[in-house]
Amino acid sequence: MRILETFINNKFQRKAFIITMLVAYSSQTNSIAADSQRDGFEYVKNKNFLKALDCFTAALKEHPNSWAIMQSVGSCHLELGQYDRAIAILQKSIEVGGLHASQCKNMAAVYQRLGQPKKALSWLKLACSVDPTQAADPNVQAAISKLQDPANNPSGSLTASDYLSSLVSFKGWRKESMPLKVHVRKNIQIPGFYDEFLSLIRESFDQWAVATGGAVSYRFVESPDGANVLCDYTDRRELVSSQHELGIDGITEMLVKRDNTPGSANIIVLVKDGPGARTFKQGPLLRLSCLHEVGHTLGMHGHSPNNHDVMFSAATFGGASSLTERDKSTIRKIYQR
Ligand SMILES: [Zn+2]
Repeated sequence: MRILETFINNKFQRKAFIITMLVAYSSQTNSIAADSQRDGFEYVKNKNFLKALDCFTAALKEHPNSWAIMQSVGSCHLELGQYDRAIAILQKSIEVGGLHASQCKNMAAVYQRLGQPKKALSWLKLACSVDPTQAADPNVQAAISKLQDPANNPSGSLTASDYLSSLVSFKGWRKESMPLKVHVRKNIQIPGFYDEFLSLIRESFDQWAVATGGAVSYRFVESPDGANVLCDYTDRRELVSSQHELGIDGITEMLVKRDNTPGSANIIVLVKDGPGARTFKQGPLLRLSCLHEVGHTLGMHGHSPNNHDVMFSAATFGGASSLTERDKSTIRKIYQR
């Protein structure tokens, strides 16, 4: 989510991010490159982490003392949301092969997704001390500064009934703005995905609206002119991220009025990994991205510290694809005020 400067000094920027891009799938082995490893990397590229895990596990049987293969196994566990297993095998990789920056970055990614930014940060700093060139890497620098950014480093209880106090700020739309006018813009490069995207956006607004007990309502409008919320979908990653940060594959830009209430919002969601990608994203992660971005447009600046909540700062495999009780009571409180 990015809140754009308005006619007043009310500029702040932030955005969901995740460390995954930093995670190196090391291709080093201590022997001849095995076919299963090559296949593994191919599966990683296609984001089929279950199959990739099979391949790396087979390779590890062949080379049981390869720290690099252990690391690849750990990366797959990370992507599959099996954090305990990821930590265990990464630790083993460190024991066997000594400390490498790539292992530290994997560890950082695990802790970031577990919602433990302080631990994530210390692993990233360790990566920089193990390999000083890391400290000069703009991706690492960006990840470190994002982890230090309060919007991505929410504090507060993981178990309280809501996470209002973890947000950097919040302000709901005014009553007079209801029902919110929402326009879903057809991307003429990828018209075929319009219906799907429309229904994802509808589903997202419905979930949040129901959670507010009707305080939030919306209607779709035919024209972008005068819409409160404009929703775009794209296959160009550069529109939703910078410096190769992956994350919730979306961004929300918001104009804020003088009284801090939302003025207008623009959601952009990445629905395909580049124009050349064979398939559209689908399933829970895409649903989560839409739900998350719609949450921002309803006036939440910041994130939940609990990785089960939709408003956690990163998309996690097996994470929420519908609102948690904490998401619901947070939005309800915002609109009770
Ligand atoms: Zn976010």
